[in-house]
Amino acid sequence: MYKLRVTRDIAGAHYLPDYEGKCRTMHGHTWTVEVLIAYQSDLGLTGLYLAKTGGLIVDFRLIKETIDLFDHVTLNDLLPVPTAEHLARELYWRLTGHIGNWLDCDVEGYTKDLGTPKVEWVRVWESKECYAEYAPS
Ligand SMILES: [Zn+2]
Repeated sequence: MYKLRVTRDIAGAHYLPDYEGKCRTMHGHTWTVEVLIAYQSDLGLTGLYLAKTGGLIVDFRLIKETIDLFDHVTLNDLLPVPTAEHLARELYWRLTGHIGNWLDCDVEGYTKDLGTPKVEWVRVWESKECYAEYAPS
């Protein structure tokens, strides 16, 4: 089993119009996004998958670029209710889709027998004390 974890800080403004309290008005956070990706294999470059991808489960650059789509933006422009929960869920599905696209472009014919890397979970820390995590059940 291989596991990849990426932690990245982004800055983003948001407001929660239906919230009773300070978060109702526009304000900003430095959000910390954590991503965990797992790939079930005991093989190294002798395995078909890692041989074809040049030894990468998923390119870290791809993960960082996906997270950076939410950096220095007003999150309400991208999500109807931009809570940490919804941001974690959105990033989970975007990363899952991007991994599939990356593999389709760069790797041929490995998935039927060897499986694919899977996003295990995405955590979005709104502050040092609080995070929301999304993983489909
Ligand atoms: Zn907030």
